[in-house]
Amino acid sequence: MSRNKLTAVRGVRDILPEEARNWRNVEELARDIFERFGYGEIRIPLFEKTELFSRGIGGTTDIVTKEMYTFEDKNGDSITLRPEATASICRAYVQNSLYAETGLSKLFCIGPMFRYERPQAGRYRQFHQINAEALGTDDPALDAEVILMLMEFLGEAGLKNLSFQLNNIGDSECRPKYSEALLAFLQKEVSSLDVEVTERIRRNPLRFLDSKDPAHSTIIASAPTIDTFWNDRCRRHFETLCNHLDRAGVCYEKNSALVRGLDYYCLTVFEVTSENLGAQDAVCGGGRYDGLIEDLGGPPTPAIGFAIGLERLLQLTETKDSSSEDQKPPIEIFIVALGKSAEQESFALASDLRKKGLRTDLAFGGGSMKSQMKRADRSGARYVLMVGEDEISKGVVSLRDMTKSRQDEISKEAIKTHLLSLLRP
Ligand code: AMP
Repeated sequence: MSRNKLTAVRGVRDILPEEARNWRNVEELARDIFERFGYGEIRIPLFEKTELFSRGIGGTTDIVTKEMYTFEDKNGDSITLRPEATASICRAYVQNSLYAETGLSKLFCIGPMFRYERPQAGRYRQFHQINAEALGTDDPALDAEVILMLMEFLGEAGLKNLSFQLNNIGDSECRPKYSEALLAFLQKEVSSLDVEVTERIRRNPLRFLDSKDPAHSTIIASAPTIDTFWNDRCRRHFETLCNHLDRAGVCYEKNSALVRGLDYYCLTVFEVTSENLGAQDAVCGGGRYDGLIEDLGGPPTPAIGFAIGLERLLQLTETKDSSSEDQKPPIEIFIVALGKSAEQESFALASDLRKKGLRTDLAFGGGSMKSQMKRADRSGARYVLMVGEDEISKGVVSLRDMTKSRQDEISKEAIKTHLLSLLRP
């Protein structure tokens, strides 16, 4: 009876070893650069109480209304797979009283997020983010440092021709006034908009500015902009941030129509896009969320952070030189064994070589010399060790250098040191 071939769930994908190597390199680069800026890695749970996200991210957002993987566990509690990391990091910050330790907490985390979105190129239901969050001050110099760190990382990862858009979406004093003015303006346009959009505007008029529909672009272009509503604090915050960025040589574009899809943002917001990505062109988004920690039951703590989409970042680095160092063959030594006692001997030898840090593999399943040599060749190993009855009786192993087609007999005792001197001189 033939069985159905099982496949992965729609919108999720496997990352195979070749690709995983690139992932690891990028993750290591992030760790290295972020640690230079004083960030520490935090590992947060993959799932949380649903309430954390519905309260933290906001009830009118697409994430909370449409995209969360929410289920009841066996105890009847509502659980959600994390759709983003900021709310969880803030929860961890409060729960572990990190605010009591130092004036400023700088944290980063790397891992999968889950959103029930319509899958397409660059958009998945399980995707991965690198998040960085700095909690503890509203000093615009911190905003500048966070942005500088982000741009340094994206630059070192090899991304070019990026567009960095910056805005200040106001605070709890000036944004409601702007929101009201924007709503009044949009209501005049309502006749040309469909029901779903009208409803969205009613719930949060700022979200309209995020619309990707080309028919909306002329309305957006003539809509009132937030900068004319800024109070002194927001204006000063934005100007100081821009001054810092100018001095640090960070290129940015002021975009007063930039808003973000999550409710917790205030003041600084930013987005990094690339025209080499197609419709889903955002590589990174971020901003300030000065009220979120208090909303989650913590002490008032201004904070700022960003999230980079790893799939999209890696898509932009894929054209990198394939002969680079990270493409080196994974296996250095391959052992070929003929006969039962040779197989046993080579198993122990492989284990010893690995303990010495040498990447070693064996021809499992045995077979003829020819077929084992084929596997040795395919492994990409530079050195092949051959163990047969003859070698065992002489107390040696045959060592073949695959690049020189040269073969020597080396005593069993000397082989480890010999290989170490060849591979780790
Ligand atoms: P957000 O948390 O929505 O601000 O997203 C931050 C970044 O995560 C985006 O700029 C994307 O690079 C990435 N991202 C968000 N949603 C997805 C998705 N469904 N699939 C792949 N990447 C995503």
